[in-house]
Amino acid sequence: MSFAKLGVFQPLLDAIKLLGYKEPTLIQKRAISLVLQKKDLFATAQTGTGKTAAFALPLLQKLRKKDPNKGVRAVILAPTRELSIQIYKDINDYAKFMDIKSEAVISGKDIVKQIKRLKGGAEVIVATPGRLLELTQNGLKLGDVEMFVLDEADRMLDMGFSKDIKAIHPLLPKKHQTLLFGATFSDKVRKLSKLILRSPAFIETAKKNTTVETINQVAYLVDADKKPQLLSYLIGSRNFPQVLVFTRTKASADFLAKELPKDGLKTGVIHGDKTKANRQKTLEQFMEGRYRVLVATDIASRGLDIEELPYVINYELPSIPEDYVHRVGRTGRAGREGEAISLLDVYEKFEIRDIEKLIGQKIDKEVIEGFEPDPNIRRKDIDAQKLKSEHKRQEQKRQHLKGKEPRKTTARTLKVARKKRKTTKRDPK
Ligand code: AMP
Repeated sequence: MSFAKLGVFQPLLDAIKLLGYKEPTLIQKRAISLVLQKKDLFATAQTGTGKTAAFALPLLQKLRKKDPNKGVRAVILAPTRELSIQIYKDINDYAKFMDIKSEAVISGKDIVKQIKRLKGGAEVIVATPGRLLELTQNGLKLGDVEMFVLDEADRMLDMGFSKDIKAIHPLLPKKHQTLLFGATFSDKVRKLSKLILRSPAFIETAKKNTTVETINQVAYLVDADKKPQLLSYLIGSRNFPQVLVFTRTKASADFLAKELPKDGLKTGVIHGDKTKANRQKTLEQFMEGRYRVLVATDIASRGLDIEELPYVINYELPSIPEDYVHRVGRTGRAGREGEAISLLDVYEKFEIRDIEKLIGQKIDKEVIEGFEPDPNIRRKDIDAQKLKSEHKRQEQKRQHLKGKEPRKTTARTLKVARKKRKTTKRDPK
């Protein structure tokens, strides 16, 4: 199936040819013709699957006929500034041979300048929800919008943008097409979808929360205090040209930004305390190759689109298992091979089970020579936990003996009982 067969028209075909896209990805195969048929869409697509082109190509094609009497004709909402800028760049790449004006209007930038730019007549706006709402309060009209896209809707809701989205929606004309994309179908997103979608087509391109198949995932067990050395060792000994390192906290990110250069590793850092301009600059410098390591907290894990980034290291596991999926989605993009490495201390060794449950697969755990965990270091709470469950067991036993609470018959106990019956030896005749 080619892009042309999906109905993509020539100016867009020329543009994606320049970008080196040969075949549509799965989400593109399934979404493009539906969007061209004016269907509302409710789609899950993992990061890195080509979902931007899946909505942007048909969106641009539908705007091909100019209408000088119309203002903004398409609005794309994204959770972060970085993702908004990435989408804006993609749109410009795709629209290279079309006469379409687009603007990115994101929070943190000078709103007066944005208003001025918008007066220049943008047909496509890529925005973060809060800033778009502010702009409408400053006179931006959305009455001509034909297409409304929510990208990474689950993340937008997690970040508290629900109110803004609900305030923006009534400003759109009654008749418009809505495309809702999320990494997962969470309950929150489903609720939102009921509010804003009309008889949508559903596309589920990946199992809930599974990570991209081409990513090789591995975890190394190591004591917390040895993590910095192990990190440097891995990058150095395996000759990683560039690597994205995730930490759970800003403090850890800042710590690594100081530690890694001592081992000769040029390191950039982005987290929530850095200004947006600073984050963008650091990211650009990383992409230019000025840094070998980019350390980021989860705030930065969305919206980063780094070409052919082969390695992601979880220096610390994320506090929310879902963020693991987003983190490792930074590698193995659009079918390329990638490797995601997690460093696990004695606590994370247990925490990773929640991630494994979420992604439905086991992650290999290994030990690197010279970095073996000290067997005497145990979780501080492990004895307390053991004691608690022992108390519980004893209490249940007592209750059972007293006959107060009859033992519950569950499918499992039944199975065990049947099995026992089956295997009971007969008395010798
Ligand atoms: P996305 O999931 O939209 O962030 O896209 C991930 C990466 O895949 C981006 O670098 C895109 O430029 C690239 N990409 C998107 N569609 C294709 C395609 N059909 N063939 C090759 N690369 C693609």
